[in-house]
Amino acid sequence: MATDPMIQRPIWETLLESAQRQELIPGHEGLPSRPDVLVVGGGIVGLSIALELSRRGAGQVLLVEQDELAAGASRANGGGLFAGQMRSTFPTAFRALGVESREMFAAWAEEDWADFDWHRGGSLAVPPDEFPCPLSEYAAAEQAAGRGAELITGSALRECEPALAESVEAGLYYAEDATVNPLRLAVGLTRELTRREVRLATGVHVARLQGAAGKIETVETTAGTICPGQLILTTGWSAAKLLMPLGIEVPLAPAKGQALASVPLPPLFGQNVMSGQLQRQLPTGHVIAGGTVEYVGPDREITTAATQRVLELARQAIPALADVAFPHVWTGLRPHTPDGMPIIDRLPSWDNAYLAAGHFTKGVLLAPVTGRLLAEWLVTGRPSAALEMFSLARFG
Ligand SMILES: Cc1cc2nc3c(=O)[nH]c(=O)nc-3n(C[C@H](O)[C@H](O)[C@H](O)COP(=O)(O)OP(=O)(O)OC[C@H]3O[C@@H](n4cnc5c(N)ncnc54)[C@H](O)[C@@H]3O)c2cc1C
Repeated sequence: MATDPMIQRPIWETLLESAQRQELIPGHEGLPSRPDVLVVGGGIVGLSIALELSRRGAGQVLLVEQDELAAGASRANGGGLFAGQMRSTFPTAFRALGVESREMFAAWAEEDWADFDWHRGGSLAVPPDEFPCPLSEYAAAEQAAGRGAELITGSALRECEPALAESVEAGLYYAEDATVNPLRLAVGLTRELTRREVRLATGVHVARLQGAAGKIETVETTAGTICPGQLILTTGWSAAKLLMPLGIEVPLAPAKGQALASVPLPPLFGQNVMSGQLQRQLPTGHVIAGGTVEYVGPDREITTAATQRVLELARQAIPALADVAFPHVWTGLRPHTPDGMPIIDRLPSWDNAYLAAGHFTKGVLLAPVTGRLLAEWLVTGRPSAALEMFSLARFG
């Protein structure tokens, strides 16, 4: 029976052991005041950048987070690494980075610290997921481009996913796509960063940046002033607030997503089904459904209307969910830019300060490659040509 949602926090928190949760709250005793690199924001993007910096010998790296690590969108998401499903309306080079990033996860999953439920289970998109042209045409173009897409119809579709509604006639399948548990990923990264002597600090809010002669010199925080050699802002949608006093306007806004999770169920379906939102059954039996995309400012309120919309889409794709209870509900604020692509750039007029934010619906997927691109830039002094498409200047 469907019941009212009651557990208002991401399912990933419910699945985390309390000792693991503690690892996400290292505190902030004895912070270094002059780190070589200061990363502000402990979401998946900040953590991944810190890892890639440390691997490239970037000196002493300090990451500060105002809340717990992965407190924002990074614990509210579906954990989908669906590079295949990045539509052809995006630049080819951007989609290639999505694939590279997914494969960086595959490599991470082989490392000692990795215990984040990496699973290459594919992704299956069905209407009302939107395609830039009729699905058969789109699939043919994707195949011609060597994107590993498979158009599945009729009985083959039923075989691929027996739980799909009869009304679903076709789907686009990418076998290489994968999933993770995003909060266990954050715990793993935290553990690995700590082992590498990257300093992680929580409960530290950055209030103000100040500089002179083209360099950010001081960063005022609730735990004192920090004077970093280089500064990287990975504060998600709220970066605009920090940059405004420096006269820098960034078109970043929150895009709220509300998602639900069911009670644990016996295996109902095996595919990660995209149908205007994600339906994914976890190894624990919980089904995740969502999320909405709502442009309502920095508002994380859970609404009945959004719950109904998510349930409707889920049951439309997978009728067996009709009588299932979804007691878990949560929201998260994705960082959104006008073209749906991130900003990964040096700040205009500030030689030692960078911004990596705006990954919108793909921040988990793109975190490793964002880390690679930015860490290479900081360490070598040379930006990759791939970064041009993520410049702040593209917004004029
Ligand atoms: C419902 C939903 C489903 C999603 N599904 C997927 C998916 O399947 N796959 C995928 O790839 N992506 C998905 N996403 C998107 C993904 O979660 C985000 O793109 C990603 O988490 C962004 O990471 P981030 O590190 O940039 O931002 P955040 O996770 O928001 O981290 C920013 C951090 O900065 C901190 N901060 C902000 N201001 C300050 C300050 N002044 N001082 C100190 N700290 C500060 C915040 O507390 C926060 O922890 C989904 C998102 C939602 C909401």
